[in-house]
Amino acid sequence: MNRSAAPLLHIDGSQGEGGGQVLRTALALSLCLGRPFRMVNIRAGRKKPGLRPQHLTAVRAAAEIGRAKVEGDQPASQELCFQPGKLTPGKYQFTMLTAGSTILVLQTILPALLTAQGPSRLVLEGGTHNPMAPPFDFLVHAFLPLLTRMGAKVKTQLLQYGFYPAGGGRIRVDIDPVGTLKPLDLTGRGRLRGIEARAIVSRLPEHIALRELDVIARELDLGKDCLSMQVETGANSPGNVVWVAVHSEHVTEVFTGFGRRGVPAEAVADEVVQETRRYLQAGNVAAAEYLADQLLLPLALAGKGSFTTVEPSRHTLTNIEVIRQFTGCRFRCLPIGEDACRIGLG
Ligand code: ATP
Repeated sequence: MNRSAAPLLHIDGSQGEGGGQVLRTALALSLCLGRPFRMVNIRAGRKKPGLRPQHLTAVRAAAEIGRAKVEGDQPASQELCFQPGKLTPGKYQFTMLTAGSTILVLQTILPALLTAQGPSRLVLEGGTHNPMAPPFDFLVHAFLPLLTRMGAKVKTQLLQYGFYPAGGGRIRVDIDPVGTLKPLDLTGRGRLRGIEARAIVSRLPEHIALRELDVIARELDLGKDCLSMQVETGANSPGNVVWVAVHSEHVTEVFTGFGRRGVPAEAVADEVVQETRRYLQAGNVAAAEYLADQLLLPLALAGKGSFTTVEPSRHTLTNIEVIRQFTGCRFRCLPIGEDACRIGLG
């Protein structure tokens, strides 16, 4: 598409789930397709509506790599006009002084950099393990391996942990462009290969991690060799996360619990156990809720593909709609038994 000639698209930021994802998907596709857009009602229904630091960083990162003209990129702004120019790979550093999620900023600019004319190196500073965002471990063990299967060449390194709410983390991402992504078809997760659990503590007592692992081992019936504890000394703040990775023949899923003040370690671990169980009991589906909404954009860029998943979340349904508004791609959700479906394109 001729970048300068593409007509302006009008997007309602409050549609569907109405959160930051509507904005990130719009920015990502605008960069990939050279399609300018105006968004109104950005995060209108949220307690603190408009652009928060994480969203502003995503807008500015997208603007920088896409040499875009931007109006409305101020804190709390609920309206944004984004007109992409020349997509320019290279070395970039984007910093959030808050714990805004580095992974969500990456989600915004990675698709375009995968199709750029040259390699990129990104250094992203902020949160690496934020509640309500993909933690670094999910990115590395669940999302990127599937993207790799679609032809992407992405290397990541966690240089420093950044826990919510202090942030201060740093990741490095090296991207070799691939042109077009290949379709991915995940009809099921296949045979279970193993389950592992890891508990990480930073500047907090080790017994927190040990208690979490105890609960997970007991409830998911895991032996000692499936458990690991990491005492992180490099982060600038206290933090605790515990994750379970379910390794299956065709996909790895990751479920994460975030330790927080006032919630016992056992309860944090129990949240992860429940999430893991829901997935294991949902038949042979490949993707759980979060992976599902994140796979849509790569599939849309590939123009073809499908995956099986649990009942679609509001994030998934909203993302499907925003992608349709940009690309015309219509994902279909076909029920395949109770609480499961196949989402596909082409
Ligand atoms: P909000 O407007 O709600 O403040 P936000 O910009 O922080 O929004 P959302 O629009 O809610 O973000 O999108 C969150 C994204 O993070 C979704 O893509 C979701 O799949 C992903 N996500 C949330 N929690 C997890 C998790 N535990 N593991 C993996 N991905 C997650």
